[in-house]
Amino acid sequence: MIDEPGFPKGMLFSLILTALLFLTACSSDSDDSQAIPEALALDIPALYSTVDTITVLVAHEFEAEPFTGTIHSDIPCWSVLESNIEALFEGRALEPDVYVPSALSEMEEIPSQEQVTWTSEEILSLARDVWDADPSSYEAEFFVLFLKGSFEREGAPDYQIIGISIVGTPVIAIFKDIVLSSSFIPQVARFVEQATLVHEFGHVMGLVNNGVPMVSDHLDPEHPRHCTNDRCVMYWVNEGASDMSEFVQQMIDSDSLVMFGEQCLEDTRSYVP
Ligand SMILES: [Zn+2]
Ligand SMILES: [Zn+2]
Repeated sequence: MIDEPGFPKGMLFSLILTALLFLTACSSDSDDSQAIPEALALDIPALYSTVDTITVLVAHEFEAEPFTGTIHSDIPCWSVLESNIEALFEGRALEPDVYVPSALSEMEEIPSQEQVTWTSEEILSLARDVWDADPSSYEAEFFVLFLKGSFEREGAPDYQIIGISIVGTPVIAIFKDIVLSSSFIPQVARFVEQATLVHEFGHVMGLVNNGVPMVSDHLDPEHPRHCTNDRCVMYWVNEGASDMSEFVQQMIDSDSLVMFGEQCLEDTRSYVP
């Protein structure tokens, strides 16, 4: 356990707890059925067989910049996402090289879109405008948009949704205003942002039973694509504060930044397409 002088850990725990309770209520994923343009279809079997390079591309609207710098002690923010993507492939015959940007200079700023709400079609359409997706069997590209405004669900804005992934595509959106409203403590909001990214990447990479079959039964029957393990980032919602404090404690105490539970890791590590 790292103990930093002058760092009120007890207070940080309760702050992160509050933010995560907020976060987990917000993890939502678009499952709108829609025609996915071929260039933006994600080939999950290729991802787990022939892909040797995974590149994450990030674009943000003006004033919706992702957090960069460090998240806790000297851990770079974006190494959380990078470590978790790598963890999904650990021990496989082919462990792809993973490239995740860490500085704003490696991310793209796009003009303000002036949108108050976003549907998944609009997000997909923006991703197609920003990037020339050129999928290959060897290199997988993932597209992350940091947007202002909020997600529109069933015709109304949903102010609890921090991030979404569009099923069947490598496209993820993070709603920056919602990240910022999750906590006034920058360190906690940073943590919320990365945890949301890890959760949404989990979905696009096939979890839970969302393209990658399960080794053990850990699919939450009430919440498709989510994990029954309350210590896993793919868990739908940590209802109880004690469950949540264990989840947070585990992440802060552990030398590892990995937020996926064993069952989810076992699925991706042993998947044979
Ligand atoms: Zn989810
Ligand atoms: Zn899990």
